[in-house]
Amino acid sequence: MAIGHPQFYRNSNDPLWEKVPEDLKQQVNEHIDGLTDIDMGEPCIWLDQATMQCKHYEYRPQMCRDFEIGNPHCLRMRDERGIK
Ligand code: SF4
Repeated sequence: MAIGHPQFYRNSNDPLWEKVPEDLKQQVNEHIDGLTDIDMGEPCIWLDQATMQCKHYEYRPQMCRDFEIGNPHCLRMRDERGIK
């Protein structure tokens, strides 16, 4: 799955968003502001593509917390994309 950026809504009352440090909020907001159609399908900007792990795991949004590591859907999607 490629979602491009952490799934936060700017200026929302999301308590997880409020915990994100300002520099990371700015990074996410600038990414969203600069999105074009050809950016769709790109990996999340917080994904470390060398380790295939989240660079800011402690600040990940609710969607990422709900998508449990190691569940069958996660493992299938990783397998389909060649992620070990
Ligand atoms: S866990 Fe991290 S890298 Fe993965 S989608 Fe969520 S924010 Fe992006």
